[in-house]
Formats: sequence, C-alpha cells, structure tokens
Amino acid sequence: MSAYYYSGCPDNYEAHYLDSCSVCGKSLRNSDIFMYRGNTPFCSKECRQEQMELDEARENKFKSGRSVRKSDSKSSAPNKTVRTGIVTVS
Ligand SMILES: [Zn+2]
Repeated sequence: MSAYYYSGCPDNYEAHYLDSCSVCGKSLRNSDIFMYRGNTPFCSKECRQEQMELDEARENKFKSGRSVRKSDSKSSAPNKTVRTGIVTVS
C-alpha cells in the first residue's frame, strides 16, 4: 500500500487540455474560458469567433470546391486602360 504516490498527483487531469487558448495560446488558468464545439477552449469571445470563422471558411471552401468552375479563362483579357488626357499646366 503506497499512498505515497498519490500525494503529488493532481486529480484535475482531465482539465489538462483547457490550460491555454487554442487560437492565441494564452494561459487560461485564471481567466474565463470560452468553449466551442465541446472541447476547444478560448480566452475570449474574439478568439472563439476567429476559430469559428476559420472553420466556416474551411467548410465553405470544401463545399463549393467543385461548383465554381472557370470556363476557359482567356489570358488575353482586353486591356482597357483609360487614359486621362488631363495636363495640368501651372
Ligand atoms: Zn485567445
């Protein structure tokens, strides 16, 4: 019976993944934690928002990956440079 080994063992092991913001890496030990999708911790709403936008962008990209198809984009696009023939004479 070695209760000795128990002494230094923290019982909050499962909170290990909550110790830093997953976006900016800031320590969350003494601050509010904002959760997203159940297991992703953030230090602020801003960081969470950033992650949400990242995920959203990724999903949108994935969904519309093949729907947007460029049809023979000609490289020789007409150059319509509008020349303003205004000469300021001082
Ligand atoms: Zn953060």
